[in-house]
Amino acid sequence: MSLTPDQIDRHKRHILLKEIGGPGVSRLRGAKVSIIGAGALGGPCALYLAAAGVGEIEIWDDDTVDRSNLQRQIQFRDADLGRSKAELLSERLVALNPDVRTIVRQARFSEAETAHGDVLIDATDNFETRFLLNRVAHESGRYLVSGAASRWSGQVAVYASGKSQDAPCYQCFVPEMPPEAEACDDVGVVGALTGMVGAAMALEAVKLIVDTGNALIGRLLIIDGLTGENRVLKLRPNPDCSVCGR
Ligand SMILES: [Zn+2]
Repeated sequence: MSLTPDQIDRHKRHILLKEIGGPGVSRLRGAKVSIIGAGALGGPCALYLAAAGVGEIEIWDDDTVDRSNLQRQIQFRDADLGRSKAELLSERLVALNPDVRTIVRQARFSEAETAHGDVLIDATDNFETRFLLNRVAHESGRYLVSGAASRWSGQVAVYASGKSQDAPCYQCFVPEMPPEAEACDDVGVVGALTGMVGAAMALEAVKLIVDTGNALIGRLLIIDGLTGENRVLKLRPNPDCSVCGR
């Protein structure tokens, strides 16, 4: 896919990187990404992917903007209250980069309408959707980039169980819904931390699409916002996993 002079100008800082370059920008232009959740994690993730020139971005979210979202969902404005998150995020992405095609799904992610992306981004806030997405990613052999943030702690990992026998899936790591599962509605979350997790998910997606560096496959990045210390845990496939066990 050749680039116009305007596109070369727009993507100059990526073209300068030897790990991305012109061919990497072309791969990004040819890529399709599905982002499930247009909130605190999905917003920054989608903005960075649109800025990077990802060709098609599908956005799933059935929610509307509430005033309490604005502390962290910086893709929205005060004037957006009550409007559809998926629709607004789509508008913001196209305003940032008119080359991006968006698909708006004003709905909760469901299997009935298959996600289009080559890479699936889990930016949801509930375990039911996470488990469903994980199964869809595994069965269709697609990458799942997963992020979460609660209180002062953030997590990012890439699951690739449908591509490699050595790679765990999300349910190898979280076999069932934790009894103490807490939603950020109940416990709070630091706004800037959700931006870090969203940006980290975009970074993983870019590496997967361009095929460079080491994605967080089988590794969980844990960001401790309070101490400023990050850790990486190794995740292993579980032979008894209900999704990918073999
Ligand atoms: Zn598994």
